[in-house]
Amino acid sequence: MLEEVLRRVPYHTVKPEDVDNEVWRLSTSIELATAELEADRDRAAEKLGPEPAKIFEFHIGLLQDQSLVDPIRERIEKEHVTAAYAVAEAFRYLADRFRAMGTEVFRHKANDVMDLDQRVLAKLVGQSRDRLAKVTEPVIVISHEMTPAQAASLDTTKVLGCATDAGGRTGHTSIVAAALGIPVVVGCQRVSAAVEDGDTVIIDGGAGLLIVDPDDETLDRYRRDIERRARIDADLRDLVTLEPVTLDGVRIELLGNIEFAHEIEALLKNGGDGVGLFRTEFLYLTRGHPPSEEEHFEEYRQAVVAVGGRPLTIRTMDLGADKYTQEQAEEPERNPMLGLRSIRYCLQNLSMFRTQLRALLRASAFGPVKIMFPLISTAMEVRQTKMIVQDVMEELQEEGIDFDRNVELGIMVEVPSAALMATVFAREVSFFSIGTNDLIQYTLAVDRGNERVANLYTAANPAVLQLVKAVIRTSKRFNIETSLCGEIAGETLYTMLLIGLGLRTLSLVPAQIPPVKRVIRAVNIPQCERLARKVGSFDSERQVLNCLREELHKILPEADGGWSAG
Ligand code: PEP
Ligand code: MG
Repeated sequence: MLEEVLRRVPYHTVKPEDVDNEVWRLSTSIELATAELEADRDRAAEKLGPEPAKIFEFHIGLLQDQSLVDPIRERIEKEHVTAAYAVAEAFRYLADRFRAMGTEVFRHKANDVMDLDQRVLAKLVGQSRDRLAKVTEPVIVISHEMTPAQAASLDTTKVLGCATDAGGRTGHTSIVAAALGIPVVVGCQRVSAAVEDGDTVIIDGGAGLLIVDPDDETLDRYRRDIERRARIDADLRDLVTLEPVTLDGVRIELLGNIEFAHEIEALLKNGGDGVGLFRTEFLYLTRGHPPSEEEHFEEYRQAVVAVGGRPLTIRTMDLGADKYTQEQAEEPERNPMLGLRSIRYCLQNLSMFRTQLRALLRASAFGPVKIMFPLISTAMEVRQTKMIVQDVMEELQEEGIDFDRNVELGIMVEVPSAALMATVFAREVSFFSIGTNDLIQYTLAVDRGNERVANLYTAANPAVLQLVKAVIRTSKRFNIETSLCGEIAGETLYTMLLIGLGLRTLSLVPAQIPPVKRVIRAVNIPQCERLARKVGSFDSERQVLNCLREELHKILPEADGGWSAG
């Protein structure tokens, strides 16, 4: 069990025999947090002088205050709650008391207290992380939540699967775990409370199922299923060298969604035609500092070399609502999904943005690169972004550095305003990539990472499908290259529909290329277009999903369509 830290830590208890260990964890984490604060204070004193450094004294004093720490320890001893829960509750109570005093000074103190809370909790998690790092045998990781950065650091030779209470199917944690080939089930709500160390669990990533303490019959069924899938996988491997061509001879381009340049090798082995979406966020999340121009450049150059002249679309940083951007913010955003995310963040942090653009442009000297901008919602954003690119190009030119002057610029269409105004954007850029993961969330007002509303989150919603259709129609009218790179591009359930709507390029998780190719090779265009027209007449997602399932089953009775709620 990877005990997790959240702004709101859930109520968990430990076994009586683990209480002493929990108290020990508490005092160790306080000692570590104090040492960290003392180091910060000394650094501040060196750089800024003794006065500013005094702000750290308040924090250090609080951590040494027995009237705060004793009740936390007593709570663990008496109620057997986890140290994380006791810490979070005590600090929240104290912060609320400061806040209730109503003045600016006390509000600041409340923020200091919450900052301290995060420091101590981080130390508690640090210990748990060590635990994960020390794993020596195959395990399944169960946690309340997992950040994309944590997912990225999982040891694929030891971690057989993961399950989390929080999160949604298209959240970045799931995407990273999928990229690593680790089965994951997110949004299980209370799984971390229900499972204990040593329990036997089955993770069925395909069906989004977690089974705790399965009976013998279930275990047998899953063992047989593993064998069946191994046979299907072997058949799919035969498809790798075959072309993704429909029965009536139309070729569909299948590109890969990747998070790291080193995935390109596996992508090409799976039969990918190139990279349709290189998410660059992980360059920021996997190191303790913003990547330097050289670090960016090295990753992109490697990618350019690895794709060997095939298409390569790199998306600029799409962060927001995460640790990286929140750490830079003076105050956490109240509604980060609608806040300073992605391109908005970049346009307000120009030096960081320019660093990435310089590296991207430099990499373009080594082979074809397209640059894509995420979360575009207004025409002004695109115009401003293009001006910045232009400016960076001039800078490079003045410095005598090589780059491709004709590098193509495109946008993700993942906000309804961009989909509705596609005709405007079509005049500004040379390609679109439809990001259904976000388009669903912003069209339906459903947080893609919130398990409580996961039932509402589906691309089969007719409103989402209408927007997708409208974008494809506009892109054809303006002759703009358009692909779709949301997770549904990799769900076989949607393959016929997407082709029927007119898409000829999909960008998907590399592992899904063979199954999607199998569908492509089993259908013809008029059949897909008929399906798209039929689906267009439905007014509920249930009808859409049933129809898609039926059609897929007709052509490939073996296919399960992937995770049906997407
Ligand atoms: C999307 O929103 O569909 C998309 C592909 O981008 P991301 O999942 O990285 O937000
Ligand atoms: Mg997106």
